[in-house]
Amino acid sequence: MSELLAVDRSTFDQVMVPNYAPSKVIPVKGKGSRIWDKDDNEYIDFAGGIAVTCLGHCHPNLVNALIDQGQKLWHLSNTMTNEPALRLASKMIDATFADKVYFSNSGGEANEAALKLARRWALEEHGIEKTHIIAFKQGFHGRTFFTVTVGGQPAYSDGFGPKPADIFHAEYNDLESVKALISDKTCAVVIEPLQGEGGIIQPTDEFIKGVRALCDQNNALLVFDEVQTGVGRLGSLYAYMDLGVTPDILTTAKGLGGGFPIGAMITTDAIAKHLKIGTHGSTCGGNPLACAVAEAAFDTVNTPELLAGVKEKSKLFMKRLNAINEKHSIFSEIRGKGLLIGAVLNEQYKGKAKELLLTAMDEGVMVLIAGANVVRFAPSLIVPDEDINQGMDKFEIAIAKYLS
Ligand SMILES: *Cc1c(COP(=O)(O)O)cnc(C)c1O
Repeated sequence: MSELLAVDRSTFDQVMVPNYAPSKVIPVKGKGSRIWDKDDNEYIDFAGGIAVTCLGHCHPNLVNALIDQGQKLWHLSNTMTNEPALRLASKMIDATFADKVYFSNSGGEANEAALKLARRWALEEHGIEKTHIIAFKQGFHGRTFFTVTVGGQPAYSDGFGPKPADIFHAEYNDLESVKALISDKTCAVVIEPLQGEGGIIQPTDEFIKGVRALCDQNNALLVFDEVQTGVGRLGSLYAYMDLGVTPDILTTAKGLGGGFPIGAMITTDAIAKHLKIGTHGSTCGGNPLACAVAEAAFDTVNTPELLAGVKEKSKLFMKRLNAINEKHSIFSEIRGKGLLIGAVLNEQYKGKAKELLLTAMDEGVMVLIAGANVVRFAPSLIVPDEDINQGMDKFEIAIAKYLS
């Protein structure tokens, strides 16, 4: 056993690079939608590790898969394939439009693979001029230098030297702004089928279908970043299934491993063939341990009952949030889909989402923010109704305290 060093929140400031500002609470245990810190304070978890712990904490199916695979084989590298990866990929193909899967360790890496593949496809199918990538303002695609440049927040990509070139940003839900940028030089349009980090913004039907049509007219690939919306989060296995629009490439991560790091890019045979031997790779991507846990998560989420449950729980969340707002008039809008919900602070409380998050934490309920003005909820997809109600009771107390 490693020696158990005494550590606390102040250790963070001494030993960690200062790119994060974690809360003062250090959780030590989780079960379902509840979390405890070392003083045994209990929290209801509506944050879900930022839409990652899609089955709550320590779900028995995931724990069993982890223990079982953990005693067999953890890692080989991609010089060998492994059974859990082959099973998980087969199931993902059965359940989606895709014919081929590439595994990564994170969402950013899945998007990095998608972007590199799109550029290769364009080069080999259409020539060296077809390099333009269109993405959206306020979009988020990860923190590698390529993905963060494609993301629509220049503040995240500024200050690191010359950026990857030929990346343009349109306005979400504004088809004309896409029309103005798209041409036969466009190799891909990259979009979240509901903007998560950007503030929980749903696409209109006309917009998302229009983007698909524009891609078809200009021989551009449509890449759906479903890192946050995928694996049941919006009440369908992937968000595209509910939109009547099929992408050419889709990326998935966050909930895919239910808390174990894994990501994937999925696509069709015709596109996949351009990522030839040696063109891309990852040492740990698709390792047996990650894939075994993800396979258990995927099997558990991809059932009609669980997905129907997401829609039901969404209604309860919306109902409780609307009732709270009727009393306290703090939000201008409650929006989102499935269990990815945003409560938008009204003009008077603009910029205060983080303060509300901290007050909620003090009351024993963990929430997220999406930008400075939106309180975001991304709980477990199987959060019990009782926990929703108790968490909302606590959230209401937090709001009352915040406003007093
Ligand atoms: C979180 C997120 C990412 C980045 O995923 P990482 O695992 O942090 O690299 C990419 N795209 C979207 C839409 C996300 O929400």
